[in-house]
Amino acid sequence: MTTSVLDQSVVVFSKNYLPLSRINIKRAISLLVIGKAEPMLLEDTAEDTAGWQVRSPNAIFYVPNHIRLTVASTERLWKIPAVSRREILRRDHHTCQYCGSTKRLTIDHILPRSKGGKHTWDNVVIACERCNQHKGDRTPHEAGMTLRTKPKAPIHPTIAFAEQFWQAHTD
Ligand SMILES: [Zn+2]
Repeated sequence: MTTSVLDQSVVVFSKNYLPLSRINIKRAISLLVIGKAEPMLLEDTAEDTAGWQVRSPNAIFYVPNHIRLTVASTERLWKIPAVSRREILRRDHHTCQYCGSTKRLTIDHILPRSKGGKHTWDNVVIACERCNQHKGDRTPHEAGMTLRTKPKAPIHPTIAFAEQFWQAHTD
């Protein structure tokens, strides 16, 4: 076994063909060995039919790029997280949504609370101290500022992964 092979990762699909996540090749092997997953071939490209050979003292094991669970995945229930500083920072990648700064970060209510703005996912963004002060008690429009993104609630990590995966595979 070379370390490079064991550093590889495999995309695991749910029983219903939803790409779930990337897992370590060792974990993929154990799922295949115990029969909880099977190789899955995507159509066409050579890249998708590729895999790795993993040699153990008495066997050569073929591990494909993509495997599919043969059992229903026991995913934990996921709820949209409550609006908190930690979760907003995570959603906005620790970046001011007005200027891109990553320093002195605060929470900005897009429609200021004094004007009835709510503490909800679509009304809060990370803003650096400077942008927040400049904006003051105004809406971004009134302050002549532009948001880099339209804030919304975080999405399920699995759905996010699936979207990313199919985006990368639809060229
Ligand atoms: Zn800023």
